[in-house]
Amino acid sequence: MEISEIVAAYIRVLALAVLVVYAYAWVIRTVGQRLTRGVAAGLLFGLGGILSMNDPIVMRPGLIYDARSILLILSPIYAGPIGTVIAAAMMGAHRFLLGGVGATGGAVSVVLVALCGYASTFIPRHRVGTGWVRSLLLGLTTISSFIVLVFLPPDIASELLLSAAAPVMLANILGVLLLADLLEREKQRVRMVRALENEASVDPLTKLPNRRVFQRAADRCAKEASNRGRPFSIIMLDVDHFKKINDTWGHSVGDSVLSKVADLIRQTVRKTDIAARYGGEEIVILLPNTEGRDASTVAEKIRHAIESEDLIVGGTAIKVTVSIGVSAVDSDNTNIRATIEAADKALYRAKTAGRNRVELANAA
Ligand code: GH3
Ligand code: MG
Ligand code: MG
Repeated sequence: MEISEIVAAYIRVLALAVLVVYAYAWVIRTVGQRLTRGVAAGLLFGLGGILSMNDPIVMRPGLIYDARSILLILSPIYAGPIGTVIAAAMMGAHRFLLGGVGATGGAVSVVLVALCGYASTFIPRHRVGTGWVRSLLLGLTTISSFIVLVFLPPDIASELLLSAAAPVMLANILGVLLLADLLEREKQRVRMVRALENEASVDPLTKLPNRRVFQRAADRCAKEASNRGRPFSIIMLDVDHFKKINDTWGHSVGDSVLSKVADLIRQTVRKTDIAARYGGEEIVILLPNTEGRDASTVAEKIRHAIESEDLIVGGTAIKVTVSIGVSAVDSDNTNIRATIEAADKALYRAKTAGRNRVELANAA
């Protein structure tokens, strides 16, 4: 093979690996569940390895160079242990089935490189970081793929060791440097977007979703209600005499009380309900597929849970109560703003009726 041909073939190997990175970026952006993400990433790495083996640099008949070591050494970090097992199984089986003088050795080297990559995940991050030092180390670790030489006739093995070992090492190191850099950038980007999304949607004090998240979910519910006649309810809750808590114990104690009230609400509602911080010490809860009466029962449970709990802040037990207004959509009015206003009015009634109680809007 001419040197220009080898360079062109190497660029093809890298291009394929880069496509794998793009697909990987899509997977980590769209798949939230860790296990599914690992499986999907493993399938991708495995597929990338297989495709690369089908368009390799042929060093000798039956002996090929491709992207598999580069992808495999990085699998444990980016696809996790299960993803690595999947990728290694796919690549190992494919290499074996491709046959040739390097078939058995190639399959064994796949397993060894994957194991070395896995072992590298145990190196503490503060030692190697996530930059070029780690990539260089990982690139050097692909030397384990040379196990293939053990399975070759000694004369071919020694000749290959002298002629191809250095370029193969170099190609692997370069490939790992490039690929790890891209993978790390994608991972950081997804992490940053997630953090920003979280910051834009979660109230930092109570860790409840904010009003914007609530509004979006409520709009969805309203649509479902008008399209399919699905009921939903809204609970509006306000802490009683909260100003007095602030005045007596201080603002930071008030903050802790609010956060504990939010915890109690979170523990009481269903997973499908959305409790959000609506304003200062007001919390709103959206209850999809829930009639007004059932929402009132939930509200009563919340009211009782808060009333019965001693909120311990800085060693002091503080008693708080809440007033709650409940409202449900009715079949001919699924307007979200009207439903919130009705809950608000019911809450006002609960306040004027003496606080620490639940009022249902439009109750017959
Ligand atoms: P009511 O029973 O009528 O609701 O009485 P209240 O004292 O709770 O009502 P008011 O609206 O007069 O007071 C609400 C207080 O909540 C005033 C405000 O300083 C306080 N507050 C609002 N947000 C926060 C917060 O994030 N932390 C703390 N500590 N206090 C807050
Ligand atoms: Mg209040
Ligand atoms: Mg208030």
